[in-house]
Amino acid sequence: MPRQVLEQPAPIEQRPLRRHSAPDLAPRPNEIVIAVGACGVCRTDLQLVEGDLIARQLPITPGHQVVGRVAAVGRDVTRWKPGDRTGMAWLAGTCGACRFCTTGRENLCEDSRFTGWDRDGGYSNLMTARADFAFRIPDAFTDLEAAPLLCGGVIGYRSLKVSGITPGGNLGLYGFGASAGLAIQVALHWNCNVFVTTRSPHEQRRALDMGAAWAGSYHENPPVPLDAAITFAPVGHVAIEALKALDRGGTVAINAIHLDHVPEFGYDLLWWERQIRSVANFTRADAIEFLDLAATIPIRTAVDEYPLSDANLALQRLKRGDVSGTAVLVP
Ligand SMILES: [Zn+2]
Ligand SMILES: [Zn+2]
Repeated sequence: MPRQVLEQPAPIEQRPLRRHSAPDLAPRPNEIVIAVGACGVCRTDLQLVEGDLIARQLPITPGHQVVGRVAAVGRDVTRWKPGDRTGMAWLAGTCGACRFCTTGRENLCEDSRFTGWDRDGGYSNLMTARADFAFRIPDAFTDLEAAPLLCGGVIGYRSLKVSGITPGGNLGLYGFGASAGLAIQVALHWNCNVFVTTRSPHEQRRALDMGAAWAGSYHENPPVPLDAAITFAPVGHVAIEALKALDRGGTVAINAIHLDHVPEFGYDLLWWERQIRSVANFTRADAIEFLDLAATIPIRTAVDEYPLSDANLALQRLKRGDVSGTAVLVP
C-alpha cells in the first residue's frame, strides 16, 4: 500500500493528498522503523492539508496518532526490538538541553519537531521515528482502539492537568468531539461532576449517556459554578463563556493550537484569581501516565475505520462534522 502525501495545501474537496510509492526506509542510529497498523486522523492534519497550519516541509506525509510494530531498529537503539508494539504521537523530538527540556517542560521546547509536520508521519505503511519518543501501547487496546488515544487522548489529559481539576470537583467541557469524549472518561473516573456545553443536541445526548451530570447549549449556564473548564472549540468567545461559568479561583484551559479571536471582556470576569491558560502539546511523561490510566479505567474509544487510500475522504468527513468518534486509517 502506498503512502498519502501532501505536495501542495488546498481545500480538502480538491483531494490534495496524492498516492506516492512506499518509501524505502533505513533508520538513523537513534531511530526505529514502524510498520504502521493504524493511524488516527486529527483536525490538525486537516489544518495542515488545507494550509491553515503552515507546512514546514513539502512534500509531507501527515499523521501523528500511529500504532504499529517495530520493523527495524537503528544501531544505537536498545529499548526496542523488531516485532515490539509501539506508538508515535505529535511530539517527534525535542532538543533535550534547553531550559524547558531540563525542567520537565519539554512540551515548551523551542527546538521541538512534530510528527507529520516536520517529518513524515503515519499516513503510510512505514515510517521512521526517534526511538526515545515512541511509546509502549497497552495490550488492552487493539491498534485501531489505541490510535485516538495518542493525540485527542493525551492532549485532553494534559488539559485536565492544566485546568487544575481535582477529584470530585465540578468540571465544564465546552465542545464535545473526540478529545472531550476521552477526557470525560478520565474525569468521571476521578469522580468529578461533568457539565458539557455543546451546540449539537446529538452530542448533548451522547454526553449524558456517557455520564455527564448536565448538558446544554452555549446560551445556557451550567447549574453550578465550575472549579475548572476545558474548551475544545477553536473559537475565542467560547473561552469567555467558560470564564463566566467559573467559580472563584477556577481555571479555563484552552485545548486548541489555533484560536480565531478572543473578544474583549471585563476584568470582573477574571477577578478572584480566575485564570485562562492555553495547553501546548504534551510531555512524554503525560503520554506514559495517560496510556497507563487509559488501560486501567479502561477508556473506550469510538473509531470510524477507513482504508489509507481514503485519507482525503476521511478528512472531508471530519471537516463536515460527519465522523462519529475518531477516523482511523488502516494501510
Ligand atoms: Zn492531533
Ligand atoms: Zn528543548
